[in-house]
Amino acid sequence: MGTLKIILYGISVLLPLVIAIIAKPYTDKSFLYEIGRGAALMAFMILMLQPLLSGRFKWIEGSFGLDIVIRFHRNAAIIAAGLLFAHPLLLTGEHGIGLLIGFDVPWPVYFGKAALLFLAANLVLGLYFLPRGMKFERWRLFHDIIGPTILVLAFIHGYFQGHDLKDIAALRTLWIAIFTVAVAAFIYHRLIRPRRLARRPYRVTEVNRETGDVWTVKLAPPDGQPLNAYQPGQFHFLTFLRGGGLPVEEHHWTISSSPTEKGFVSSTIKELGDFTATIGKTGPGDRALVHAPFGRFSYTFHPEEKNLVFIAGGIGITPIRSMLIHLRDSGSPRNVLLLYANSDRENIVFYDELSEIEKGSHPNLRVVHVLQNPPDQWTGETGRIDGQMIRRYIGEDKAGDGYYICGPPGLVSSSINILKSLGVEDKRIHTEIFSFLD
Ligand SMILES: Cc1cc2nc3c(=O)[nH]c(=O)nc-3n(C[C@H](O)[C@H](O)[C@H](O)COP(=O)(O)OP(=O)(O)OC[C@H]3O[C@@H](n4cnc5c(N)ncnc54)[C@H](O)[C@@H]3O)c2cc1C
Repeated sequence: MGTLKIILYGISVLLPLVIAIIAKPYTDKSFLYEIGRGAALMAFMILMLQPLLSGRFKWIEGSFGLDIVIRFHRNAAIIAAGLLFAHPLLLTGEHGIGLLIGFDVPWPVYFGKAALLFLAANLVLGLYFLPRGMKFERWRLFHDIIGPTILVLAFIHGYFQGHDLKDIAALRTLWIAIFTVAVAAFIYHRLIRPRRLARRPYRVTEVNRETGDVWTVKLAPPDGQPLNAYQPGQFHFLTFLRGGGLPVEEHHWTISSSPTEKGFVSSTIKELGDFTATIGKTGPGDRALVHAPFGRFSYTFHPEEKNLVFIAGGIGITPIRSMLIHLRDSGSPRNVLLLYANSDRENIVFYDELSEIEKGSHPNLRVVHVLQNPPDQWTGETGRIDGQMIRRYIGEDKAGDGYYICGPPGLVSSSINILKSLGVEDKRIHTEIFSFLD
């Protein structure tokens, strides 16, 4: 299904180019001009498909996982920008440099120039300022204004300036249709869906401190309504409505509960920044908008895998806790190894619960705690999870087993490399990184 969607995406991007080539196979322009014209047609389609990629539509992200789709969305923006910047440069051969720097140009060209400026601003904000500490909410506000502005400017520029559009009715129809889809997707994602979620807010039922800076928040759906169905290891978007001047922001967190735990969902949240610093102030009776479920980080998507190896670092244990409870409650006979890295003993989240599951026989779980700063009496592993340690615990017979890694980006990338070097197939390595920006 995923392959089909990728093919469909490729066809959509190429469609205006194909229509233009079929309808106007010969022009009197140079080869470079033709490339510039094709670049614009493809870039336009890439831009118009962007709201579909970022709009969290199940029928799009379901096959890949939202994290992958969002990374694709970001890379598609970079490719569209490259094509759009090439477009006027390649056209200067026919129209002269005045097209780029002159003011004596047809009015729709101004819309094209403005679209390029906004696109450049969008890229600088997202690729430079956001990774360097720009507040996410501020970036999102800019993105929500700049993104649709680019679409409108690009539409007007192409519609009134593009020679292909003037000459080819099918292209004009496509232009209007895809622009309408893009605008509708944006309006649905940013305006209509939030209002629909607001009509059935979940209720916070419990807030429990797990360690010094980690809290589990339990939520129940409105009375008489079912929970959103989910797979263990998936994540949701929560917007807490707590009053008292506490911030109202949408954030993504793993669902740390298992679908086998009835009547509630929970997230286990670490105080990592300005919003999460307030998570302990959440209390029973507060409300939250829940948009769920997302992600493909679940052993349930890979029933063919024999035994499981989980590698977690710090708060990265949350999806693994969900899967372990699910394995326990569904009586799974699998062998499961958990390598769990933390800085200190006090920071191990779910220590007691993991020990309890380890004592049972379903699943046949072995937990290996790895501490960077072990206490005096510590008899477990110390330091970092490295190649030697992984090799020692997983042994030789790795065929058919599934490997699930969740934690800081460094732990995830080094574990992937180690597993690959030990001969584990790519398709058996599943990862969740707690940021869409990496
Ligand atoms: C799939 C997934 C699952 C996650 N599961 C958990 C979990 O179970 N437990 C846990 O403690 N953390 C989890 N996180 C991380 C969590 O989303 C961030 O720690 C949290 O959003 C940080 O918010 P902050 O404002 O306190 O921190 P800040 O320091 O302000 O932000 C840190 C980073 O978090 C991201 N971020 C901040 N605000 C938002 C927002 N509104 N929407 C999207 N991203 C934002 C940005 O990348 C930002 O650079 C998960 C992240 C992802 C992607």
